[in-house]
Amino acid sequence: MRIILLGAPGAGKGTQAQFLMDKYGIPQISTGDMLRAAIKEGTPLGLEAKKVMDAGQLVSDEIIIGLVKERIAKADCEKGFLLDGFPRTIPQADAMKDNGIQIDHVIEFDVADEIIVERMAGRRVHPGSGRVYHVVYNPPKEEGKDDVTGEELVIRADDVEETVRKRLGIYHDQTKPLVDYYRAEADAGNTQYHKLDGTQAVDAVSAQLAGLLG
Ligand code: ADP
Ligand code: ADP
Ligand code: ADP
Repeated sequence: MRIILLGAPGAGKGTQAQFLMDKYGIPQISTGDMLRAAIKEGTPLGLEAKKVMDAGQLVSDEIIIGLVKERIAKADCEKGFLLDGFPRTIPQADAMKDNGIQIDHVIEFDVADEIIVERMAGRRVHPGSGRVYHVVYNPPKEEGKDDVTGEELVIRADDVEETVRKRLGIYHDQTKPLVDYYRAEADAGNTQYHKLDGTQAVDAVSAQLAGLLG
C-alpha cells in the first residue's frame, strides 16, 4: 500500500504515521526526519538544509525529489510506503507521476490553523526515532523522556510560534494546491482521495484511518 499523508505542519501526520507503520508494516518516509538526520550528521545537504528549515522555508524541490527517489528505490519499500511531509509542492507531486510511482491513497488531515499553533507549542520529539509527543495531548510515560529508549525529548528549533505561522503561510500557498491536484487524480481513477477530521483525539483519528484503509 502506497500512501501520502497530506496536511499542514502539526496536523498529526507523523503521529498517525507511527500508527500506520505498526498496523500495516510499511515504512514511513518522512522528508523532515531525513533532513534532520542529515543535519545531525553534518553532511553537505544537512549544512545547506539547516538554514532553510530553521527559517521555516522549503528545501528545494530538486534536493527533496532526489532524496525521496533514492529512498523509494530501497528494498523495504517494495510492499509500499507512507509518505509524510512529501510531496509539498506541485513539482514534487509531478516528479512522482513522471517516475511512474503510483499512489493508492491520499489522506488529507483537516485542522484549523489556530489548533496547529497550539499543538506546535507543546510538541516534543525524540530525534533518534522521529517519535512525536505533546505535553498535554499525547504525553510520554515519563516527562521529557522517549517511551521506548528513555532518551531525552527535544523542542524543534522551527516550532517557535513565529516560524510556525510562517510555515502555515507556506503550506497554504504551496502545499494546499495539492488538494485539488490529488482530487483530480482521484477523479481520473489514478488514486483514492480521503479527507479526515484531524481535530479529533489521536486515537479517534487512528480509528478514522483504520476505517478508511481497511
Ligand atoms: P512539519 O510536519 O512540522 O511541517 P517536517 O518535519 O515535515 O515538519 O518538515 C520540517 C522542514 O523540513 C520543513 O519546514 C521544510 O523546511 C523541510 N522539508 C520537509 N519536507 C519537505 C519537502 N517535501 N519539501 C521541501 N522542504 C521540506
Ligand atoms: P505533523 O507530522 O503533521 O507535523 P505531528 O504528528 O508531529 O504533526 O503532531 C504535531 C503535534 O500535535 C505533536 O505534539 C503531536 O503530539 C500533537 N498531536 C498529533 N495528533 C494530535 C491529535 N489528534 N490531537 C491532539 N494533538 C495531536
Ligand atoms: P469533502 O467533501 O471531501 O469534505 P470539501 O467539503 O472540502 O470536501 O469540498 C470542497 C470542494 O471540493 C467542494 O466543492 C467539493 O464538491 C469538491 N470536491 C470534493 N471531493 C472532490 C473530488 N473527489 N473531486 C473533485 N472535487 C471534489
